[in-house]
Amino acid sequence: MSALAALSMRVDERGTATVAIRALAQSGRVQGAPDAPPVKPPALAAAEAATRSWAAHVAEGWALAAKIAEGWERVSSFSCGYVPIEVWRADNGVRVVNVQVEGPLVHSSIVIATECLSDNGLPHTLEHLVFLGSEDFPYKGVLDKVAFRNLATGTNAYTDVHHTAYTLSTAGTQGTLALLPVFLDHVLYPTITDAGFVTEVYHVDGEGAEAGVVFSEMQAIENESGSLAYLALRKCLYPGECGYAMETGGIMSGIRSLTVDQIREYHRTYYRPDNCFIIVAGKVGTGELLSAGIFFS
Ligand SMILES: [Zn+2]
Repeated sequence: MSALAALSMRVDERGTATVAIRALAQSGRVQGAPDAPPVKPPALAAAEAATRSWAAHVAEGWALAAKIAEGWERVSSFSCGYVPIEVWRADNGVRVVNVQVEGPLVHSSIVIATECLSDNGLPHTLEHLVFLGSEDFPYKGVLDKVAFRNLATGTNAYTDVHHTAYTLSTAGTQGTLALLPVFLDHVLYPTITDAGFVTEVYHVDGEGAEAGVVFSEMQAIENESGSLAYLALRKCLYPGECGYAMETGGIMSGIRSLTVDQIREYHRTYYRPDNCFIIVAGKVGTGELLSAGIFFS
């Protein structure tokens, strides 16, 4: 008689032994043990429960979104793999892309379609000035203070040849919903003051040296071999007046000639609600996103 058979004999006689042998069978270490019910591994059961919960969450969000559809039009709805994506457009033209990814972090981008047909750094200088204050929050640093209090890792932005993006990541949904209105106010209604232009873009200091945050930033990289080669390459590839051939950050000679009124005009031209996309990726229901009332001025 094998050890397994002897053990089985005792299983019929002692209840406690029965529990032991069944536990072995469930763990897969004993094949053919008597009456071992199929038990899902805890991790699989938890994953299934989470999936059911997430599906309910998504459905709830869509149902709510349908209720508050006044002022919004659903442009499209599709899935990328298992990720549901919805695109909504508000009456004022703002488009919201809700990418419903389950997870603890929420990543958002406020994207403006921009182009620049010169090397004077209009996209970059405006991006800097946006962070200096807005109509409702006219002080430098307020945005990041609000961000830190909403479990964000601060705020950031970048410029490219065909768009400018302002980015934000928070732990959890509430921080995103609290921060987006503040961030949007900065993007769409920046103060762009004369004083801000002097300190942030370009000035000549009391000793005759050129200064300014943007000017210094570009001064540091303009004559690096990589920067020179890449800009020269683009100017060969795209001759003439073409945004792809331009340095969106600005070159020093271009930044020197820039005026604050040119930046204000650039903002008026491109930073319009109907030229603005807000992409939110995370566990944020469409309903709570649209009903937050943050996309209407
Ligand atoms: Zn910069």
